[in-house]
Amino acid sequence: MTAKLGIACHLCLLTTGDVSPGAVAHQEAASAAFERGDALAAERILRCGIAAIFEGADGALAARAALRVDLGNILTALGQYDDAERQLRAAADDVNTHLRAARLLHGMCLNALGMLSRYTARFDDAAGYYELAQTELRSIEDEDALATILHNIAGLAHAREDARSGIEAGQESVRIRTARHGENSVLVAADLSNLGGLLFDVGRVEEAAQCVTRACEIFANSYGPDHHEVAVNLGNLAAVAAAGDDFEEAERLYARAIAIKTRVWGPDNPTTLVSIHNFARLLARMGRVDEAWQHAQDVVAALAGRVGEDHRLLRRARELVVELARTSEQRLRS
Ligand SMILES: [Zn+2]
Repeated sequence: MTAKLGIACHLCLLTTGDVSPGAVAHQEAASAAFERGDALAAERILRCGIAAIFEGADGALAARAALRVDLGNILTALGQYDDAERQLRAAADDVNTHLRAARLLHGMCLNALGMLSRYTARFDDAAGYYELAQTELRSIEDEDALATILHNIAGLAHAREDARSGIEAGQESVRIRTARHGENSVLVAADLSNLGGLLFDVGRVEEAAQCVTRACEIFANSYGPDHHEVAVNLGNLAAVAAAGDDFEEAERLYARAIAIKTRVWGPDNPTTLVSIHNFARLLARMGRVDEAWQHAQDVVAALAGRVGEDHRLLRRARELVVELARTSEQRLRS
């Protein structure tokens, strides 16, 4: 990298690992040469600095672009317009590549902050971070990263029980992922499952059923029929069936979901217990009070002492146990 100066370039010795000291040294030396009136020396020094940059190093693109802008200016002053334009265009390309990488990273930082805020129930903060992330990723047209943010925006709407506000983002994520990965991709399945939950919450049950059924098929085809993603979606399908008063279908689906979750997570896992609780509620609606009470009681027994008394599932299971005991008592009396 020192050949162009004819002698060993001491500035090049600075251009190792971290590229910026070497690049800045070349820039400063070239600037001094140009001020002395030695434009040709400035040109040689800048070309040497550009050649010394290892493209894979941190900050290489921005450093090389800065050298090329200086070189482009000198070449313009020397009347070498074609060469100047080549250098300046290459500088613009370097900066653009550098910016895209930085914007992608910035977008993913904001996304991670959004997820953190969501898990800690700071929903307004989460929405703000996702919005900024979305703007950043739309500006660089990174479709996969954008679909991830849209998926999370839809999920946030579900978590804060404002399903309507997330449907558009959920639909766009499905469209983007289908176009990029084909309709059988598990990424599409995850988006469909997400969207199905939102559609269900706003009462668009038919569309919800289509989304969740399709998600279930994709997961089963990709991961096998006993995978936990299949179980989660079977549980959602059961909720759809129950909402349509198709109790037999709902019972069949809950039984499958619970069987898979029990195998994968164990009988006392909160994920399994959520399905058992939902199944107990279904049985209660079907008038099978004693079975329902037993399942609700199982959920309480599995959680009591392990989680705080204000744990949502424990609280709801306790309420169900009390309610079912009362119903059972009334039946015995009448
Ligand atoms: Zn050099």
